[in-house]
Amino acid sequence: MLFTHLLWWSLGAVGLLMLLIRILELAWAKLRLVNAMALSGDKQTYWKMEHWDWMPGLKRNLIYAPLWKKRHNREIRLSSVANMGTLPSRLHALLLLGYLASNLAYLFVLDWKNANRYALCAELRGRSGTLAVVSMVPLIIFAGRNNPLIRLLNVSFDTYNLLHRWMGRVAIVEVIIHFVAWAIVQVADDGWAGVQHRILHDRFITSGTVGAVAMVIILISAFSPLRHAFYETFLNTHIILALISFICTWVHCTSAAVPGGLPQTPWILAILTLWLAERAARMIRLAYANWSSRGFTEAIVEPMPGEACRVTMHLPRFVDVKPGQHAYLRFGGLRCWESHPFSIAWFEHSYGSEPVLPITEKEDIEPARKPVGTSVTFIIGAHTGFTRRLHNASRQSQGRAVSMRAAFEGPYAGHHSMDSYGHVVLIAGATGITHQISYLRHLIDGYNAGTSATRRLMLVWIVRDYEVLEWVRPWMDKILRLPNRKQVLQVRLFVTRPKAASQVISNSTTVQMFPGRPNIPMLLAKEVCEQMGAMCVSVCGPGGLADDVRDAVRKVQGHGTVVDFVEESFTW
Ligand SMILES: Cc1cc2nc3c(=O)[nH]c(=O)nc-3n(C[C@H](O)[C@H](O)[C@H](O)COP(=O)(O)OP(=O)(O)OC[C@H]3O[C@@H](n4cnc5c(N)ncnc54)[C@H](O)[C@@H]3O)c2cc1C
Repeated sequence: MLFTHLLWWSLGAVGLLMLLIRILELAWAKLRLVNAMALSGDKQTYWKMEHWDWMPGLKRNLIYAPLWKKRHNREIRLSSVANMGTLPSRLHALLLLGYLASNLAYLFVLDWKNANRYALCAELRGRSGTLAVVSMVPLIIFAGRNNPLIRLLNVSFDTYNLLHRWMGRVAIVEVIIHFVAWAIVQVADDGWAGVQHRILHDRFITSGTVGAVAMVIILISAFSPLRHAFYETFLNTHIILALISFICTWVHCTSAAVPGGLPQTPWILAILTLWLAERAARMIRLAYANWSSRGFTEAIVEPMPGEACRVTMHLPRFVDVKPGQHAYLRFGGLRCWESHPFSIAWFEHSYGSEPVLPITEKEDIEPARKPVGTSVTFIIGAHTGFTRRLHNASRQSQGRAVSMRAAFEGPYAGHHSMDSYGHVVLIAGATGITHQISYLRHLIDGYNAGTSATRRLMLVWIVRDYEVLEWVRPWMDKILRLPNRKQVLQVRLFVTRPKAASQVISNSTTVQMFPGRPNIPMLLAKEVCEQMGAMCVSVCGPGGLADDVRDAVRKVQGHGTVVDFVEESFTW
């Protein structure tokens, strides 16, 4: 039991440390916002300068560092189908190593002097089983879209997903050790026939064996190339197998020959409750966002150039959307049990009837109009599965928009506020623009209202073809017409394969177009030279681009200014 407590405490201690860091980070950002939102860019020098000598080194060598030299989010591909996934960052790797080492220590600190090796096996069986169940609690919390720790600790879902995968692997290895340790003693006692008999006829052992087999299948099917190649099949079997393992573990715990069941029973009940609560939260969110007295959600799908489509969902009720949020979408007629995450690129609220002006003095002044519905728009690039089917559906009506039944689940994430930064650099590759564009209107509005510290905002978007600009044209038109936009926003568009030189000509100094790819280190070094207040660099796009930006941000650490880095990844 001591080792179980140690594992609980070590997990809790990491969580508490993260919470403390998060509180300090939030307090610092709030202080910076309150102070800097009243200052012009050149007066934000205090926030621009780095005040702790050790911070740039910590960011360069640990917080933003890839595992080795540069590669982090660029996928390791053995062929066009065999995707080995991505590498964890240095910080993530250290956390995982710590978790792995602590589990190994808790597992193998046994009474090795005991001459009776079967007694040793029994001790190992108990320890491994208990540790596996303990690991399943954070494992299930981390798998949830509605994991409250995402917002609380400001850690993104993909980081929890990474931890979920590794904790899962550790838990399954512990379950295998648990099974083997039991089998060794059983074979010695009763031979293989005894093992077979108990697996088939003893509820305690049958449930344990079925659970263990389900977990081994999970381990094999979650192997990166398989997971990426057949993501939906993987996800559905994963959920079913996980449920089978939890139920079997529960039966295993309650059918033991111990009065009241094994002491681990309350944990497995907690795991099942957490799982059910998460599923219920999803259903409630789904029902809430898509159904009201005003009807159901309707989606308009427009075909777009560059193998993409633009989807606008008219939600029948008001949904509060923040920059950087995403939602899970499902469409009727396109395997509606599949839901996929997409960043909310744009949103507009619709309002009830026009306010009525009072006719007599005694009449109350009409309260401000309340939003009654929200339209959210997404840009969806076609891959090979659901996105390809949606793309094909959008092409069916010869270039015209089609109306479809769809459902929106969210919004999720959006915990990275850029409001306190004097200087924001947003870098997007292809569909990554959906994540970045959501910050533009918010930050320019904040500048005009005096509620954000942003004084310089740079958007860099790298696209393959000029035609792709059509994806965001309606929103860009609105953004470029916002008051004082020219004082804050600079846009740099890079078209890597322009069909003609005339396509990449722009007469504006604040919106410029270039052929080819940007030189990210040079671009960032120039921004740092002209830095206003604290800077945040955000990237969303293909893994190779994200790694280039990360590398460039690490290189400008140590120039004496504050440069933070945020990465939004479209893969997990
Ligand atoms: C937070 C977030 C925001 C995103 N925003 C956008 C966006 O704004 N626009 C856009 O075009 N794409 C976005 N994506 C990517 C998009 O979700 C995937 O491209 C899409 O799910 C692929 O579906 P598919 O069946 O066509 O994939 P497939 O062709 O079957 O596979 C392509 C890749 O997508 C991954 N994938 C498949 N299904 C899922 C899933 N349900 N969840 C996560 N990954 C999956 C696979 O592992 C594989 O690597 C976002 C992803 C995330 C995680």
